[in-house]
Amino acid sequence: MSKLSHQNCTFCKIINKELPASIIHEDEKVLVIVDLYPVNEGHLLVIPKIHNANMADVASETLQHTMKIAQEMNAALRTSDLPCEGVNLFVADGEAAGQEIFHFHLHVYPRYKGDGFGFRYDRARHFRQLDRTRMDEIAIKLKSKL
Ligand SMILES: [Zn+2]
Repeated sequence: MSKLSHQNCTFCKIINKELPASIIHEDEKVLVIVDLYPVNEGHLLVIPKIHNANMADVASETLQHTMKIAQEMNAALRTSDLPCEGVNLFVADGEAAGQEIFHFHLHVYPRYKGDGFGFRYDRARHFRQLDRTRMDEIAIKLKSKL
């Protein structure tokens, strides 16, 4: 299957104008659309046009451009009249991380006090302080993969 366009991919179909979308920005590398199922109104998706399921496979210049466009979307949200006191950027890379459409994309969504959205976590399990030995082991493990 070509990486340029994946036949059964919803985002490729949107990019190819085979499915409708509310488009905010389009250039040679990315498309920005309004998310159909938003965290809050103004939730946007920055989608590279070349199909790659995972972030690791996206060309670095495309990723840089994706982030630059996300910065512009952030500014647009903050100056719009949509409720927006802050902005989250979010990537779900892989099914275990919550990815539902397997075409890499960056979420950009407005946040405001009392919007009721947030990450769910267990204080007993998450954000527990690591000891330095384990931190160093993790650092060595990951450095070897760079
Ligand atoms: Zn795709």
